[in-house]
Amino acid sequence: MTPACIFCRIAAKESPADIEYEDDLVMAFRDLYPKAPVHLLIVPKRHIESIAQVEPGDAGVLGRCIQVARLMGERTGYAERGYRLSCNTGPEGGQVVDHIHFHFTAGRR
Ligand code: 5GP
Ligand code: ZN
Repeated sequence: MTPACIFCRIAAKESPADIEYEDDLVMAFRDLYPKAPVHLLIVPKRHIESIAQVEPGDAGVLGRCIQVARLMGERTGYAERGYRLSCNTGPEGGQVVDHIHFHFTAGRR
């Protein structure tokens, strides 16, 4: 855990969030400032800064994130209509929170 990191604090239940899904490796919670009718963040519990810091040993947890995205698509009713999964990386990639996360957005073309 990186105590200054807001997503580590959410994973440790030290900061509140609207949690939609949680398992041993990954959680999904609502974005505090949603940019689409459905806007979830799918986040590994363990602190990985960004895609630029991903190691071979992270493949399992990142694969789990994709599985959770599938589940969120089914639970939110957008599996057929479709949704977007995106991962901003680094300052020029629009990343503001330096703990890797996938934006799951749906309901807006
Ligand atoms: P980034 O720009 O790093 O890809 O996206 C960070 C996202 O985290 C933004 O969409 C922002 O609204 C969201 N966010 C920032 N702080 C918090 C927070 O404390 N709680 C939640 N649930 N979302 C947050
Ligand atoms: Zn973190």
